[in-house]
Amino acid sequence: MTKFVVPKVIISKCIEFDRCRYNGDIIHSEFVSSLKPFVEFIPVCAECEIGLGIPRDPIRIVLVNKKTRLIQPSTNTDCTDKMVKFSADFLNSLDKPCGAILKAYSPSCGIKGVKIYPAFEKVASVDTGAGFFGAAVVEKFSNLAVEDELRLSNFRIREHFLTKLFVIASFYKIAAKPSMKALVEFQSDNKLLLMTYNQTKMRELGKTVANHLKKPVTDVFADYEALLYKAFAKLPSYAANVNTLMHAFGYFSDKLTSKEKAFFLDTLEKYRLEKAPLCIPVSLVKSMIVRFGEEYLSRQTYFAPYPEELYLMSDTGKGRIK
Ligand code: SF4
Repeated sequence: MTKFVVPKVIISKCIEFDRCRYNGDIIHSEFVSSLKPFVEFIPVCAECEIGLGIPRDPIRIVLVNKKTRLIQPSTNTDCTDKMVKFSADFLNSLDKPCGAILKAYSPSCGIKGVKIYPAFEKVASVDTGAGFFGAAVVEKFSNLAVEDELRLSNFRIREHFLTKLFVIASFYKIAAKPSMKALVEFQSDNKLLLMTYNQTKMRELGKTVANHLKKPVTDVFADYEALLYKAFAKLPSYAANVNTLMHAFGYFSDKLTSKEKAFFLDTLEKYRLEKAPLCIPVSLVKSMIVRFGEEYLSRQTYFAPYPEELYLMSDTGKGRIK
């Protein structure tokens, strides 16, 4: 069984950790609960940290002299400077987080779509943007797995988030004690996953590992890390997954009966037409790997990018795929 590295994940404390919302509420999330045994959460409530207390009057983002400010209208308090300072100090204090799960639409934690108002009074919003803490997280950790909890209710977004999270965690583990042997193994074990996400970057990563310029190991790791982030920047397409599965299927096509081959190709076509989830053709290839004892494929992270206990099938369909 694959042993996964435990990633560090920043989380808005009001999601599953504390009753710290402005009205003393907590937000329940089945996904965050299921993650608890597999990640090291770093819960934080930026509004509590800047001394706003629980319960508290709501704050909102307001345009003042055409600039966004974080305001508590009932007390006429401008919390912007405190929030900006707290965010920078807190994020700079963290040791290698791999991602963040932040509360959607909060003027502090939101990463997009947060309402921006033209005045302190009750008026309609005029624009949307990121909350102050959320914006600081995105700016500092733009390469990491950063999402809000609502987008993570979408199956494909969640799958991408988890894949990125665990791949970054396993890279950070080998980077803590850099060796070319470990990097060669990492590249080899992630070959199909990289092929699926970004073939151009997969080749560039391969060249980096080959190290024809004989760079020092630490420089090779730095180059590799920068490329790895780019490789995982976007979700892979359906066509890319089909291509990878066909590549893996090629290892077995001469060992299967024509009926078995037709069944697999039919299942893959259903996936390509978005009539079957990815896990079905993936499971078929996994069963071939076990049946024929294919050692190279059995090590590929593509077939188990994150712990299987996290394969929640629920999907609200919310959240646009980036
Ligand atoms: S959204 Fe962020 S600031 Fe607001 S209660 Fe939750 S953790 Fe605190």
